[in-house]
Amino acid sequence: MPARIIDGRAISQQIRDDLAPRIASVRERLDRPPGLAIVLVGDDPASHVYVRNKLKTAEDSGMVVTLETLPGSATLEETLAVVERCNASGDVDGILVQSPLPTAMGSNAAQQVFDAIDPGKDVDGFSPISAGHLMQRRPGFAPCTPAGIIEMLDRSGIAIEGARAVVIGRSDIVGKPMAMLLLHRNATVTVCHSRTRDLPRVAREADLLVAAIGRAGFVTQAHVKSGAVVIDVGMNRVTDAAEARRILASQPKRHALFERRGSVLVGDVHPDVAETAGAMTPVPGGVGPLTIAMLMANTVRAADLRAAA
Ligand code: NAP
Repeated sequence: MPARIIDGRAISQQIRDDLAPRIASVRERLDRPPGLAIVLVGDDPASHVYVRNKLKTAEDSGMVVTLETLPGSATLEETLAVVERCNASGDVDGILVQSPLPTAMGSNAAQQVFDAIDPGKDVDGFSPISAGHLMQRRPGFAPCTPAGIIEMLDRSGIAIEGARAVVIGRSDIVGKPMAMLLLHRNATVTVCHSRTRDLPRVAREADLLVAAIGRAGFVTQAHVKSGAVVIDVGMNRVTDAAEARRILASQPKRHALFERRGSVLVGDVHPDVAETAGAMTPVPGGVGPLTIAMLMANTVRAADLRAAA
């Protein structure tokens, strides 16, 4: 039987619907809606698309968004100055700096910028304070993508406690916080990466497999135990015809889309995994919408805390 497809868009809408009364309550107490500042530096096309989606969702949810754009030639100091301004603003509850930052800013620019965000406004959860709070299971802001995955599992009735979970990928923004959140929910967690020996064998042990790799269609049926829940974090734009054929052979509609547009968005998980998995998330329409919903949830929480202070 093919896997149940988990509808990220529908779950994201549920989360946003649940936020509506809290947004109204913030509006009453602060005399303004929750405020999100988005800092966008440079002209990376994918970043512009992500920011547009976040901005639209936040505005549709009744929040106020301040978009701070800087040219690709902006310096680290200029970017830090914008962050400081947002830190000081009484109208901003949450700050998001869209990554990647331009490479000319230096290899640890993103880290320095995340370090500068007021932890009370760190709705992306990337600052070292937020990472420490997550590690110690203290209240704080967890990164939106892994937090969204936990929310998705809960709302889909998928048990985490006691499950054997394997996370492929160990980035600071997805893999590591994902492992920590699963551990806090009493899963038994293994984290895999590019040096993991015999990855398919380790991945096949998972009841719950999370792929956050950044390689199109990398996870195949050889990595998946029959009936496992597979969460696909990957967002990869494929432009190569042979690669599109390899991944979309069983998805004629999406392949036709590739032929029309010359590119297509795919996950880290090969769609044929649906024949082995018990449940899985699609790309697009899986984890992506949850990430945005959790950004909204974190911003409302930040505003709530401010209103309660
Ligand atoms: P990243 O920082 O590049 O990390 C990728 C991880 O995958 C690394 O830990 C790397 O291992 C591991 N990896 C790479 N090749 C591997 C291999 N052959 N075998 C096993 N592990 C391998 O990426 P990221 O920021 O975590 O993002 C991962 C993917 O998720 C990307 O496609 C990104 O676009 C997507 N993403 C989606 C959302 C969303 O909202 N849906 C949000 C964030 C990210 P090493 O550490 O050993 O190098």
